[in-house]
Amino acid sequence: METLINYFETIPSLHRSLILVGGLTMFWLLEGSLPLINFKYKKWKHAIPNIFFTLTTVIVNFGLAFLLLETARWVIENEFGIINWIPNLPLWAYVLLGVLLLDFIGAYLAHYVEHKVKPLWMVHLVHHTDHHVDTTTANRHHPLESVIRFVFTLVGVFIVGTPIAIVFLYQSLSLVATQFSHANIKLPKRIDTILSYIIVSPNMHKVHHHYRLPYTDSNYGNIFSIWDRLFGTYMTLDPNLIVYGVDTFPDEEANGKIGTLLKQPFHKYRKPTTVDASE
Ligand SMILES: [Zn+2]
Repeated sequence: METLINYFETIPSLHRSLILVGGLTMFWLLEGSLPLINFKYKKWKHAIPNIFFTLTTVIVNFGLAFLLLETARWVIENEFGIINWIPNLPLWAYVLLGVLLLDFIGAYLAHYVEHKVKPLWMVHLVHHTDHHVDTTTANRHHPLESVIRFVFTLVGVFIVGTPIAIVFLYQSLSLVATQFSHANIKLPKRIDTILSYIIVSPNMHKVHHHYRLPYTDSNYGNIFSIWDRLFGTYMTLDPNLIVYGVDTFPDEEANGKIGTLLKQPFHKYRKPTTVDASE
């Protein structure tokens, strides 16, 4: 555990990039051999806007990283934050609790708020207007969303009191976890269900990408599924019934254009309709 922490404390940018590209490549290849849905789409063409938004996410996070470094240094120097206030915590529990709570504040809570506050939903909308969810959708975030999520993570680091090693470990796990949950892959149903008790499984997250409420407002989890189960936002839907996208922005061609997507948050809010979840 100590070796792991030492590694993440000074993880080179090159290694972080390798995790990003390596994960993307691995799931991309898996999508070819065990697809969940047989999309009739041009995989590379579909990937272009998503890769563009992955790059802007990397740039935003890279540009603001000094704030994370400074905050993480400050909380440790001042023994501030939840995990530093619990006495005699073994190292493994310190790390696990740090990652769990960062996942809650930096991702689950951020995501929940993005769905409930209208202007933030309009920013997050870009992530949802993908009509073919696959591993490249994981970081299809408008640059403004990358900033919003960064702020939540920063607040998380402050409240939880995580050293930079745990922040980098969390970010790396988060990256691979979202590439996995968005990947268009079909796991044996039992495995997917068992996984969904601990982490966000591919089938679990796809429900969140259904085009209509109340499904869009469910399964907000990032790495761990426990937050959805704990706060009653967990839902299931047969993958065969899932239609990707958002009912209020159905123009598939527009939703594949970088320029249109960059402007999407500034559209007028359109009120969605809700279907009966018991149907
Ligand atoms: Zn969402």
